[in-house]
Amino acid sequence: MSVNTQVQRSLFDEVMVPCYSPMEMIPVRGQGSVIWDQEGKEYIDFAGGIAVSCLGHCHPVMVEALTEQAHKIWHLSNVMTNEPALRLAKKLTEVSFAEKVFFANSGAEANEAALKLARRWAKETHGEEKTEIIAFIQGFHGRTFFTVTVGGQPAYSDGFGPKPGDITHLPYNDIEALKAHISDKTCAVMMEPLQGEGGVLSPTNEFAQAVRDLCDQHNALLIFDEVQTGNGRTGEFYAYQGLGVTPDILSTAKSLGGGFPIGAMLTTTELAQHMKVGVHGSTYGGNPLACAVADAVVNYISQPAILAGVKEREAWLKEGLAALNDKYNIFADIRGKGLLIGAELNQEWQGRARDILVASGNNGLLLLVAGANVVRFTPSLVITKNEIDQGLAKLDQAIASLL
Ligand SMILES: *Cc1c(COP(=O)(O)O)cnc(C)c1O
Repeated sequence: MSVNTQVQRSLFDEVMVPCYSPMEMIPVRGQGSVIWDQEGKEYIDFAGGIAVSCLGHCHPVMVEALTEQAHKIWHLSNVMTNEPALRLAKKLTEVSFAEKVFFANSGAEANEAALKLARRWAKETHGEEKTEIIAFIQGFHGRTFFTVTVGGQPAYSDGFGPKPGDITHLPYNDIEALKAHISDKTCAVMMEPLQGEGGVLSPTNEFAQAVRDLCDQHNALLIFDEVQTGNGRTGEFYAYQGLGVTPDILSTAKSLGGGFPIGAMLTTTELAQHMKVGVHGSTYGGNPLACAVADAVVNYISQPAILAGVKEREAWLKEGLAALNDKYNIFADIRGKGLLIGAELNQEWQGRARDILVASGNNGLLLLVAGANVVRFTPSLVITKNEIDQGLAKLDQAIASLL
């Protein structure tokens, strides 16, 4: 790229809506779990976007699927039957409980569809009164107004005027609170089967089972938001498969396209029938390019050897973090499942997750935070042992630089 066309960080402040504050470095190329910036500086990627790049960067399986489809057809309206969309939908029904699929372009849109379906189902089968959506404090479901209001972080949903109504937030992992509150007026309970943004918090098996049982007792639907946990992230294809609790509706996005935007809502035939022609839709939902890439990603990730590899990598990464903790005494807890890992800072390091993120960036390592006290790791599901070792060495340097 010639000097006069080089994009600089200052251009962001000039032309972008300031709802983000990106790092100074400008990544321009990626291969596997390595990224290079404009200056040619190398970074190990422990973030994978935000749990998106499940096959790393520019994996041949994705590049091949995208280029092949790019030479065939890019877009079809929903007036047409679309080969890549139907292939992907078929595959998603094979790897999950689902019988029917609705395609969207993002996690928020998949969740929006899930919530609208739940409300529509409740109205058509139980009447006007059954509208309550129960969700959990610190949960995250996206940024459309409905989904952000269902999310349990008022900092994200306040300040936009009147909110969509009849949404209740309860503490996560608190069976008694749910039991005390849920009623026949509850339309659906929406939860992440492992809270990602909220701090990498797993549900207990008892809680997951209790949510399912209480939904059944009150004829409420259970919606699992698997936007972050889905597509192999936890070592199961979907996290619900490791919890032994099956939802009625599941949303998936992030890793589904491995870096190409796509989301999907999965459900049963019985529920799906409430979304008749005209009830819901999306112009780009089911886009052939997106579906061709996602089909290749799902076919690859759903192989038992790949899923087993996620658990192997979880062990490597957690062992490495434990070793760093022995050396620096920095973490109070190392938790999460598969390659959705959170390291919670101890008392002495309170509030410094962002400092660690910045120091890591300076030392050639990309990672994430989940709140002020949790450092989050969501690398590629096929990251190599060597890349993990390199990343941990950089994290070691980063922590040392903060002492
Ligand atoms: C990222 C995320 C979303 C939102 O997805 P977008 O593609 O940004 O709309 C929703 N739910 C969960 C659990 C997420 O992690």
